[in-house]
Amino acid sequence: MGAEVDAELREQVRKLCSRYPSEYWRKLDRARTYPKEFVQELTEAGYLACLIPEQYGGPGLEIREAAVILEEIHHSGGNAAACHAQMYMMGTLLRHGSPEQKARWLPDIASGALRLQAFAVTEPDAGSDTTRISTFAERKGDRYIVNGRKIFISRVQHSDLMVLLARTTPRNAGEKKTHGLSVFIVDLREAGDAIEVRPVDMMINHGTNEVFFDDLEVPVENRIGEEGKGFSYILSGMNAERILLASESVGDALFFIDRCTKYAKERVVFDRPIGQNQGIQFPIARAYIRTQGAMTVRDRAVALYDAGEPCAAEANMCKFLASEVAWEAANVAMDTFGGYGMAEEFGIERKFREARLYLVAPVANNLVLSYVGQHVLGLPRSF
Ligand SMILES: Cc1cc2nc3c(=O)[nH]c(=O)nc-3n(C[C@H](O)[C@H](O)[C@H](O)COP(=O)(O)OP(=O)(O)OC[C@H]3O[C@@H](n4cnc5c(N)ncnc54)[C@H](O)[C@@H]3O)c2cc1C
Repeated sequence: MGAEVDAELREQVRKLCSRYPSEYWRKLDRARTYPKEFVQELTEAGYLACLIPEQYGGPGLEIREAAVILEEIHHSGGNAAACHAQMYMMGTLLRHGSPEQKARWLPDIASGALRLQAFAVTEPDAGSDTTRISTFAERKGDRYIVNGRKIFISRVQHSDLMVLLARTTPRNAGEKKTHGLSVFIVDLREAGDAIEVRPVDMMINHGTNEVFFDDLEVPVENRIGEEGKGFSYILSGMNAERILLASESVGDALFFIDRCTKYAKERVVFDRPIGQNQGIQFPIARAYIRTQGAMTVRDRAVALYDAGEPCAAEANMCKFLASEVAWEAANVAMDTFGGYGMAEEFGIERKFREARLYLVAPVANNLVLSYVGQHVLGLPRSF
């Protein structure tokens, strides 16, 4: 039953994506513009709301279906980075928000009336060491006053709401370093001059920004959960994020493998298809085998997640494996296509740039290795 539903969903997503060919993404990439029509169609199809429970107007699907959707978008040559955050970020609200907060925001997110695409954690002076963020939310009566600076915050211009992680107690206040961080929903439509958004030029079309908070007022009722416990709320969403981004990387790897396989059969040099040469054939086969491995670990992580079982090890490992194999397949594609790999028209170089992102974001693979070293293998902590 589950497999049939997945196959049907896969087919529907494929159909939608077929209306957005390589040329569509190439134009956006060149102009560094947002895939408005694509995101609109995904929203109308209910895909971006897939994890929102039925009681809040969503289809109430599981992570398995979300993984299928994102994998297929990437397998088709598209890029879900413009909107994937909406899928898993509302989990912070769903798991830790009050009934009033859920009733206030989730139905509108489910219908597409509200966009929750921005997620502000990273800061220049903290990097991967999130507990060192210094953006501060100071409580004043029924409001918090936020000041600080974030970097690499994506999709701010295409979002109505932002999930913000800020300190509410200084790091050196004597508590554990993971204490004293809080999560807020910021209504970007009301922020006015208190938020300045400066786009950062990136090697991919990702709508990424530096964001400055200058006495931004956030009502107390927009704080998610308890003050000071925000770090654990953000962490609780990490497994879903890792699994879903692994699915995008799996999709990227499959995209490259499909394209390479087709091209290697068709391109004739020295009177034979290039795919007849083992120097071309074996790297494609190797990438395919490794992609199957990444998918197996991803599927295991999905099964555990949907069963409510602990899955942090599997979620981290599948993110690692999938991002590595996507990058391997990207390089194999560059070799297979020769000079044409670099020609924009073939769509390989764009995907090559996009696939590289997942080795470093939203979590750098070294941090994944350190998670596995410490928490799975019991090796000494390095930080
Ligand atoms: C296109 C893009 C979009 C993004 N969108 C968002 C967003 O919407 N919201 C958001 O909050 N953030 C976003 N980010 C930020 C992203 O999550 C960070 O870039 C990522 O977490 C890594 O942090 P950093 O860049 O500061 O690297 P750093 O932490 O400075 O790390 C640099 C390098 O050092 C390594 N390193 C650091 N410490 C250790 C250690 N102890 N052991 C071994 N190696 C180590 C890392 O693995 C990495 O390779 C985005 C980033 C990019 C590039």
